[in-house]
Amino acid sequence: MSYVDEVLERVIAKNPAEPEFHQAVKEVLNSLRPVIEANEEKYRKEALLERLTEPDRQFKFRVPWVDDQGQVQVNTGYRVQFNNAIGPYKGGLRLHPSVNLGIIKFLGFEQIFKNSLTGLPIGGGKGGSDFDPKGKSDREVMAFCQSFMTELCKYIGADTDVPAGDIGTGAREIGYMFGQYKKIRGVYEGVLTGKGLSYGGSLARTEATGYGLLYLTEEMMKCNGHEMKDKIVCISGSGNVAIYATQKAQQMGAKVVTVSDSTGWVYDPEGIDVALLKEVKEVKRARLTEYAAARPSAQYHEGRGVWSVKCDIALPCATQNELLIDDAKELVANGCIAVAEGANMPTTLEATEYLQQNKVLFAPGKAANAGGVATSALEMSQNSERLSWSFEEVDSKLKNIMVNIFHNLDDAAKRYGKEGDYVAGANIAGFEKVAEAVIAQGVI
Ligand code: NDP
Repeated sequence: MSYVDEVLERVIAKNPAEPEFHQAVKEVLNSLRPVIEANEEKYRKEALLERLTEPDRQFKFRVPWVDDQGQVQVNTGYRVQFNNAIGPYKGGLRLHPSVNLGIIKFLGFEQIFKNSLTGLPIGGGKGGSDFDPKGKSDREVMAFCQSFMTELCKYIGADTDVPAGDIGTGAREIGYMFGQYKKIRGVYEGVLTGKGLSYGGSLARTEATGYGLLYLTEEMMKCNGHEMKDKIVCISGSGNVAIYATQKAQQMGAKVVTVSDSTGWVYDPEGIDVALLKEVKEVKRARLTEYAAARPSAQYHEGRGVWSVKCDIALPCATQNELLIDDAKELVANGCIAVAEGANMPTTLEATEYLQQNKVLFAPGKAANAGGVATSALEMSQNSERLSWSFEEVDSKLKNIMVNIFHNLDDAAKRYGKEGDYVAGANIAGFEKVAEAVIAQGVI
């Protein structure tokens, strides 16, 4: 049996109730087969894959808090410190009822390679809780965050483990957690990223994922003989990633003609009006029907449908599994040149394979949406220096990082005879650096 298959069997046997973790390990290790097979003897002797698939440590703890009725509630908190071979553990805190250890481990494992790809010195970790901030009062959210941090603060620090936001953990939650960390530990340090600008946050963090997506897409297009100017772009979603992806695509001279939310989508042949979109989504927090009502050129449709519009570039920026095999077929039939994932796992495996088989340039989320975590690492640098960089400085560093990510994955794919397979390239490039660092640091 091959080394990869042996380790896959072992991971499933050792972690029986964690299907998401199995899936993530399977996907990553399968795409790494060419590298692992080329170094099988060495990696096996080093037990490299066993070491990479076993977290350095994982914490699971009780989070008691009192709700507005005076009732004590109990949630479960998690932090998985997966691998710190190339830098302090880094990864978000997810607050969602679906959170369990298997999900946190799946996200933490993926984070190792995503962080490595950025070229910045950050390891992989993830955490969270099954607490649901939706429908809770500010006081309840504060009570939860303080209790959560009372335990978590024992394990994190600016040089050891630096959590960030994720689903359910936005600026409000980060603020409460940062305050509690400071209160208990008595130190003012960059222990969390995604902080407010008045207490150590970074300019351009809000724009980073959407802008980064476009910087990488532009480079991928350029290296394949295309330019962004005058291209028709379909974007899904209308949240943080989608809004700033739309803005940057337009600054590059492309025309974005769609956006969507969980109830419907808009086709605007004149090009999306970003100022109006921001007003509707960021200020009024309203539905896209309001965008369509205020914009005569826009047509509103209920349900899904963004990928049926003819476009040169498709950027899924909403949620997981939103670009399905039939959508991929429609995109190919309409002559789409490139798909780049702004969201995490928006394209199903089947759809990804179909796009790649039909020569559509495909940039996986691990690389294409890494601008967010990269800018979090830039926030860490600013906190360590006790300086704040200008918007332009952060933005220009972000651009360099995204261009480098593309070249790293392009080179890695070429080295293993998989030219143009950016999915394999991303996993290989992320893995190589971590593997080298793990081996160099000895058996620890
Ligand atoms: P937001 O919550 O700001 O926006 C999500 C958008 O997607 C909303 O417009 C939402 O609509 C829409 N949406 C949600 N579910 C569906 C659905 N089933 N069908 C159609 N639209 C849907 O999230 P972000 O923009 O921050 O994140 C989007 C994706 O990008 C996620 O996968 C996230 O993990 C990923 N990501 C985000 C990063 C960041 O820095 N923000 C970094 C890296 C990845 P509605 O308003 O109706 O809910």
